[in-house]
Amino acid sequence: NYTSVSNLSNLLNVRIEKLVRDLTRLGFSDVSHNYILSREYIELILQEYNYEIDDRVSTLTWENVYAELKSAVNPKNLERRPPIVTIMGHVDHGKTTILDYLRKTAVVAQESGGITQHIGAFQIETPVSGRKITFLDTPGHSAFLKMRQRGATITDIVVLVVSAEDSLMPQTLEAIKHVRASGNELIIAITKIDKISKRERDKAIDRVNNDLLSHDISIEKVGGDVQVIPISARTGENMDLLEESIVVLSDLMDLKAENATNTVAEGFILESEVKKTVGNTATVLITKGTLQKGKVFVCGNTYCKVRSLCDEGGRAKLKALPAEPVEVLGWKELPQTGDEVIQVKSEALAKKYVAKRQALVQSEKHAGDVKKINEQRCSEALLKQRQDGGEDGDESSISEDDVKAMGPKKINFIVKGDVSGSVEAIVESILPIGNDEVVCNVVAASVGSPNENDLKMAKITNSTLLCFNLHDISNDIINNKENVEVKRHNVIYKLIEDVTEILTENLKPIY
Ligand code: GDP
Repeated sequence: NYTSVSNLSNLLNVRIEKLVRDLTRLGFSDVSHNYILSREYIELILQEYNYEIDDRVSTLTWENVYAELKSAVNPKNLERRPPIVTIMGHVDHGKTTILDYLRKTAVVAQESGGITQHIGAFQIETPVSGRKITFLDTPGHSAFLKMRQRGATITDIVVLVVSAEDSLMPQTLEAIKHVRASGNELIIAITKIDKISKRERDKAIDRVNNDLLSHDISIEKVGGDVQVIPISARTGENMDLLEESIVVLSDLMDLKAENATNTVAEGFILESEVKKTVGNTATVLITKGTLQKGKVFVCGNTYCKVRSLCDEGGRAKLKALPAEPVEVLGWKELPQTGDEVIQVKSEALAKKYVAKRQALVQSEKHAGDVKKINEQRCSEALLKQRQDGGEDGDESSISEDDVKAMGPKKINFIVKGDVSGSVEAIVESILPIGNDEVVCNVVAASVGSPNENDLKMAKITNSTLLCFNLHDISNDIINNKENVEVKRHNVIYKLIEDVTEILTENLKPIY
């Protein structure tokens, strides 16, 4: 609910000079690019000047901080990329056997002397058309599920295996539900056809087809678009057909990604583990740009300056293109499965983002603590009220609804810091602190030591002056006669703790 002047000018597509002029006309003084505006002010400005508002105005959240790192897609630079495929189906219907077959026969694997390590995914080159396909090698992969919870999807295509012996089973139906929810494209592989005599085969395949139809899967046989391929992963029969079906479908899907080295690279973590010999490792699947040695990536609470990368054959690589899974070394801390990775320009910038993220996480934790204390106090207050004779219908007693109707109490702060980055980080970190009884309100935030104007404003608005990393605050300000409290900090966590403390002090039980 807060944003800076420069951010607002971007969002509104209004020149910053004009916005500053308009703000000055509305009575704001000393407006700079970094000036932080509250929602109320933003709405006032929007009304006054008929600016178009949209939901993006609430920009000081972590998702948006992350989003600002990403670059827009340039359609001119899009190149074809390999499809990413997951194999799903009922237990024992043949998922693992298909993956084993693919690994063994993959041209890529043969060249590199076979797949030697499990990194969560592998890439093959199809024997017929020589095209690449990436397979996630754990059915129901946790990164896959975690990303789905966030509404993102790793895979393009799901190959659903159905045993010719059993046809559809409970987990097959689960997988169908999943495919529908995720919007993935579907290919059906009827497996284990070698186990059925030639005479019985058509009958078995028809049975599966009919079962699929009865679950509204529009298979090719009846003019639909879902391909059904009968295969044997044991003998390899029709496995080439399955691979080419994936290629054909991926062409229809027109899967593309930018892969230029100067594109800001993005991707996600498939797997991560601490290895005894090399330390933190993670399998990264890039969705955009290229992954190269020396590039720096942020990811959740950690970052990586890529020290080395290798494929599933354990071969060192110079770079990885979109959909090419590689194991990456160079992580500060172990990243989490399913987390996004985004390239940043430098290690210094990565550190800044990680610090910002940690401050946000910390402030959320503090907000949770305050909430807990408050809930306890609230229930104590209610209990006391009942014990004091609430039962005989004392109308003057305060109900829970009354408390809510009063709205949260605003505790005002004016933030001053050494650089705009820290001011922004502090505002972002302290705003979430609070609950439905007491909330944090930033009246103003700017760079530089507090001056007489700041002091005046703090007095008028009854704010605490929060100073971060400022070493030249004048004694007149520190020992001011206006009774304005000045808090000085050099460590962001300490500052957050202090703010939490001030808010907690304001949680007076209501009787
Ligand atoms: P998953 O649980 O879906 O991964 O199933 P598996 O791949 O482990 O297969 C279960 C059993 O079926 C194993 O004993 C496999 O050898 C066997 N199997 C899988 N696919 C085939 C096939 O195409 N033909 C034959 N004859 N057996 C198969």
